[in-house]
Amino acid sequence: MAYTTEKSRQAFIEAKQHIPGGVNSPVRSFRSVGGTPPFIDSASGSRLFDIDGNTYIDYVGSWGPMILGHAHPIVTEALKNALSRGTSYGAPTLLETELAQRIKAVFPSMELVRMVNSGTEATMSVMRLARAFTNRKKIVKFAGCYHGHNDGLLAKAGSGATTLGIPDSPGVPESIAAITITVAYNDVPGLTEIFRQHGEDIAAVIIEPVPGNMGMVLPRENYLASVRKLTAEYGALLIFDEVMSGFRVAHGGAQEVFEIVPDLTCLGKVIGGGLPVGAYGGRRDIMEWIAPAGPVYQAGTLSGNPLAMTAGIATLKLLAETTEFYKIINEKTANLCDGIRQEADKLGVKLQLHRLGSMFSLFFSDKLVYDYDSAKKSDVSAFNIYFHAMLEQGIYSAPSQFEAAFMSAAHTEEDIKATIAASAVALRKVKEYYK
Ligand SMILES: *Cc1c(COP(=O)(O)O)cnc(C)c1O
Repeated sequence: MAYTTEKSRQAFIEAKQHIPGGVNSPVRSFRSVGGTPPFIDSASGSRLFDIDGNTYIDYVGSWGPMILGHAHPIVTEALKNALSRGTSYGAPTLLETELAQRIKAVFPSMELVRMVNSGTEATMSVMRLARAFTNRKKIVKFAGCYHGHNDGLLAKAGSGATTLGIPDSPGVPESIAAITITVAYNDVPGLTEIFRQHGEDIAAVIIEPVPGNMGMVLPRENYLASVRKLTAEYGALLIFDEVMSGFRVAHGGAQEVFEIVPDLTCLGKVIGGGLPVGAYGGRRDIMEWIAPAGPVYQAGTLSGNPLAMTAGIATLKLLAETTEFYKIINEKTANLCDGIRQEADKLGVKLQLHRLGSMFSLFFSDKLVYDYDSAKKSDVSAFNIYFHAMLEQGIYSAPSQFEAAFMSAAHTEEDIKATIAASAVALRKVKEYYK
């Protein structure tokens, strides 16, 4: 059957009448790659099914959460049971303690855990906490790192290597952007200089230890250790935003891989098993500043919601109890990346392919990608050609050069073979474009 998106095209036109840009989160709109986003009807395992009757092998996985694949029978069954017990009480449940325990078992740096409803909420809360605890105002972030859409974290670098915050979005007050300092990722001298100038005022450094929101970028050797050392030296807190990398690049996230103990950690995505969840936690002496244990206010009507807790518990239980879960999913991802790399090499198409665990990115660039500026030098037109060629062959990946891809446990050997074969076709199109 020829690839058609007629129904999605109509649905998108209709959606735009009622929803800004037709979507509830901007990247879904295909703005940067062009064309019509397929409207999804359902999903199962590694597959997405759209309203035009197309089937896709999915490497977005709802932007990270679906590490078990879609509609995993055990998670689905747990949710059905939970549903009949009521969907929200606004009172404590055993489920919240169990999820906190399961998180702590894998992230020992998180001595106390507070559940919220999104990654954005986790980073927002953690900044308030860091400012209260240190009695300092400034937050350091890294260009190209995304921490949700909080005012204070939407500021990022201008063209310079290190720049004082300029709002990235209208509506973000300059006074808030001004207390956000943006530094290039992987740049130790840049960060050292910022600490030399502002060290006494810096409440915290927030970092995606393995960034996935400028495409996936890997830390240089000892980079994260240097960031840890600098923050400790100046009495600033180190916040690992592992909303994406947690339970993804490894069971215990980037902090396990690189053996760094942050003061505070933000989680989301995988820990909600596909339901809306975020969490933050860390050192007990800091977390005890959170209300009602301490004076820093943070609350949520639906926080710790029984459905979200149930999906999270079922997911984390499977991750902990499935034999060699991470070994298998990581090998599968490595095989896929190797296959794509071989096709690119055969054709002489220059790629920067990054992978850690079951997360990966390909940049259309012949130069190393190690920060936001180098990421931005990749060939977005080549990416767009590749993206659409993959989509038409039934491979659904993130509609932007600057996003990561995710494997799930449900992807089969056949899925991976089919993806590599589709990739060969798509890369040939890129090669023709380069001519
Ligand atoms: C997705 C993401 C967030 C935001 O989480 P939401 O649930 O979308 O609010 C924050 N930080 C990182 C690193 C993320 O990948």
